[in-house]
Amino acid sequence: MAIHEYQGQGLLNEAGIPVPRGQVAETPEAARGAAVSLGGGPCVVKAQVLAGGRGKGVFDSGLKGGVHLVPNAEEVQKISSQMLGNRLRTKQTSQQGLQVDKVYVAEKIAYDRELYLSIAVDRDNRCPVIIASGHGGMNIEAAAATDANSVVRLPVPNYSQPLSEETSDKVAASLGLDKTHQQKQALRGLLTKLYDLYRSSDATLVEINPLVLTPDGQLLCLDSKFKFDSAARFRQQEIFAFGDGPSSPSSSKDALEAEAERPGFAYVRLEGNIGNIVNGAGLAMATNDAVNYLGGSCANFLDAGGRATKETMADAFRIVLSDERVKVVFVNIYGGIIHGDMVAQAIIEGVQEVGPLRVPLVVRLQGTSAAAGQKMLAECGLKIHSVNDFTEAVELAVRLAGESGPSSASGARSKRSG
Ligand code: GDP
Ligand code: MN
Repeated sequence: MAIHEYQGQGLLNEAGIPVPRGQVAETPEAARGAAVSLGGGPCVVKAQVLAGGRGKGVFDSGLKGGVHLVPNAEEVQKISSQMLGNRLRTKQTSQQGLQVDKVYVAEKIAYDRELYLSIAVDRDNRCPVIIASGHGGMNIEAAAATDANSVVRLPVPNYSQPLSEETSDKVAASLGLDKTHQQKQALRGLLTKLYDLYRSSDATLVEINPLVLTPDGQLLCLDSKFKFDSAARFRQQEIFAFGDGPSSPSSSKDALEAEAERPGFAYVRLEGNIGNIVNGAGLAMATNDAVNYLGGSCANFLDAGGRATKETMADAFRIVLSDERVKVVFVNIYGGIIHGDMVAQAIIEGVQEVGPLRVPLVVRLQGTSAAAGQKMLAECGLKIHSVNDFTEAVELAVRLAGESGPSSASGARSKRSG
């Protein structure tokens, strides 16, 4: 799970890690107020979206840059009014960009150097890794591409131990902060706290870019990005409450992705027109692969998990069908512990609850008691295309999706049954 920059800066501040003073705002007037309370001087106004590369982003209005340096509170209000309510596209967003509902107003910092510092998971070595570069800022990717040596990776093998001074001093050297005792000490203090925060918050990524060195020798985190292990939700309730779930009014996540969190689905929006409802992440991936292999494209990845109740199916139908792009719904369920007849029952009741589906429904049901379930689907009178073979089912879904243009969706439904 990712959080917004202003939330990340709050976590850093609470952990005693130096960040510029700042306030989040949802209206241009509030942004102006924030600037005034920060002293009314030069400020940075930053669009809050869950994507990086904002500095070089472009708004749908044509405005360039999701991060602006402005001289006073009046200009803060002005630029905020051009950001709020608009969509910001960056290298890390889709073509459509992300809607900006909040801006973060921070005091502008003067600095001598921009550095890059992050802690991530080193999958090969199964431990955290500290990544550091003396060439931080917006061009870090370019710097890394032209000179791989400018980015240093330092695996930290003992996850259960606090960071050693030795490791910290190595990082200091790779950041070029080893010239004076003061610099080394500043980095040691910051990195020790950052590493503690990374561990205690179950983070999988904390990225500070830029970390800046001010003329008076201080280190400050000007921008931060956090990701947390979703499996740690139960013990990181404060952090997960930040999340962009349905409970958060400002969701820059895809609306359907947020909606799908409520019933506990794993849902990812994709670019196609076949709406999938599948149980198990492995089968969901196989389904997406098969659809692509056979010439179709999926509107989503949806792992409905192990439950097969009427409520689950009705929720899944609602979510998938509320996506206007969906031209056919493909349910692919393998009954392991859940029996096929229960799954069929849930599908039938789910369809009945949601009402006549606006697009054809293809169901492939296999596994425990599959035959009983298939029989129920065939006999329920709901025009469900029940196809037992995986490939044939996918072929049919792909064909129906291709046939049903925007207006002929219901016509395609009756063409083939069973
Ligand atoms: P990102 O592009 O999404 O990573 O957004 P950042 O928050 O990193 O801001 C982009 C760039 O704006 C930074 O790399 C800095 O060069 C610049 N910037 C951000 N805050 C300040 C500040 O307080 N003072 C100055 N001088 N530049 C800043
Ligand atoms: Mn940044």
